[in-house]
Amino acid sequence: MIQFSFSMIQNLIGITDFRMSKRTIQSYFSSSSASTPHTNESTSEPKKSRAEFSHSDLIGDPGKRKPIDDYQPEIRDQVRRAYALNGPTQPRDLVFPRKWMSGEFRSFQKTWFDEFDWLEYSEYKGAAYCLYCYLFFNSSKPEKFGSSVFAHQGYVNWKKAKDTFNKHNVCKTHVEARQKCEDFMNQRTNVGRKLVQVGKEEEKRYEIRLTTSLDVARFLIMQGDAFHGHDESSTSLNKGTFREMVDWYKDKVEIVKAAYEKGYKNCQMLSPYVQKDLTKACAEEVMSVIMDEIRGRKFSVLIDESRDVSIKEQMAVILRFVNDEGKVMERFLGLQHIESCTAIALKEALVRMLKGCFACKAS
Ligand SMILES: [Zn+2]
Repeated sequence: MIQFSFSMIQNLIGITDFRMSKRTIQSYFSSSSASTPHTNESTSEPKKSRAEFSHSDLIGDPGKRKPIDDYQPEIRDQVRRAYALNGPTQPRDLVFPRKWMSGEFRSFQKTWFDEFDWLEYSEYKGAAYCLYCYLFFNSSKPEKFGSSVFAHQGYVNWKKAKDTFNKHNVCKTHVEARQKCEDFMNQRTNVGRKLVQVGKEEEKRYEIRLTTSLDVARFLIMQGDAFHGHDESSTSLNKGTFREMVDWYKDKVEIVKAAYEKGYKNCQMLSPYVQKDLTKACAEEVMSVIMDEIRGRKFSVLIDESRDVSIKEQMAVILRFVNDEGKVMERFLGLQHIESCTAIALKEALVRMLKGCFACKAS
């Protein structure tokens, strides 16, 4: 058993902002579901590095850019936003090369930039491009007037350029791409305009569905029961405890049944992700209550390590302290996977865990 004081831990992990609340573990589990659950990821989990696209990755010359679909799906919106904000590449000071076409020399004219705000010129390929079509043209759709050419290959026939630009300016695929770009850059007003207004009634139904899921999650956490079943499909005879309890609740309470049956079908609050979010929110709330209970007191840490079924080493951490009434309290803080059972590995895992608790509390 190791003895710690609260200030030691705070100094160790460098957190000083700590607020007090008067909840207890009992009040948390006996209270109604009025508290809003937090859906933040646990701070004790390492975050995966994510591909990013920054302003410095922009390629000015449209002839050198790779198609949007070649970027990883999770960063395509970042790429589109960066290019849309940057605007079309219109090098007005360039001396455009002349080409022999149909009996005379012809070249790209910089006055075209004034007429067509989407027009881009690639010095590398000596071709014209369309910014909107590059960003939002769907190449799987049939098209006319060169959306594919303006998006990818580049347009080079200067003799018919003005005529083609005028046609492209009003062609369906270009207008759609332009509209998509404008909506994309102005999502707030776009969503407000296009989405059906969610009425107060639907909001109420959503609240009932969320509260139902939260109540069931809290019950299963308290009992230490598993949430999932082997087969959670609608035809399954046993969909696992979580889904079965929600179904049971629906059968017993009419307004709950109505909330699921009359409400939108895409926001049922039943998915494994929602269950996990609710569980994490509950864990953070319980952690916060424990931190409040032991604030300012000395406490001991009980650590026991064992292997789980996947033969991973893990340690259970329990905090022991004396409360306001002079009673000895023991609070289970959680389980933490460890790389080895050496003292240094246990200490590092403990510090990491407490750091997560304090960060959770501080936020
Ligand atoms: Zn276009």
